[in-house]
Amino acid sequence: MLKTLKRFIRRLLWFLLIILTIGLLIPQNIQMPVTGATNADFNHQSFWYYPWGRSGTHKGVDIFAKKGTSIKSATTGLVLYSGQNDMGGNIALVLGPKWRFHYYAHMEDVEVKRFDWITKKDNIGTVGDSGNAKGKPAHLHYTIATFLPHFWRWDGSPQGWKKMFYMNPIPYIMN
Ligand SMILES: [Zn+2]
Repeated sequence: MLKTLKRFIRRLLWFLLIILTIGLLIPQNIQMPVTGATNADFNHQSFWYYPWGRSGTHKGVDIFAKKGTSIKSATTGLVLYSGQNDMGGNIALVLGPKWRFHYYAHMEDVEVKRFDWITKKDNIGTVGDSGNAKGKPAHLHYTIATFLPHFWRWDGSPQGWKKMFYMNPIPYIMN
């Protein structure tokens, strides 16, 4: 009995390890999600900017564009959530390669549904000013978070330990 259980657990762990590894090996190939946006459309110092309202630090990048500009998926992935929250307004959360989460916020329209499988050719939605961007210039807030902690990125900045879970998206979206 115990032997069977041990064997089962061992097989389960191997299975999980293989799934995890496959995810890590998928290349990211991140693209600038806002159609037509250039390096001049975002502040290159805005990641982890402090102080930043209720969030404390800014855990992403804001890409400015005309309201209604289409937003393509930055990577291939699986939509985990699309809907609304207080701060983000109209949002979408996509699980992409390397077990990283891609978060799109302040959209005007959301054009994906939960469990949609999407590629970089698919529209996530359009740029807007929903959530706490109301009254500010329209922009996409874009965050990349990692499920596997990057311990070496922890530093002494405000909320510095959270850097284990947030990637700086700026190097990835430069064009
Ligand atoms: Zn933002």
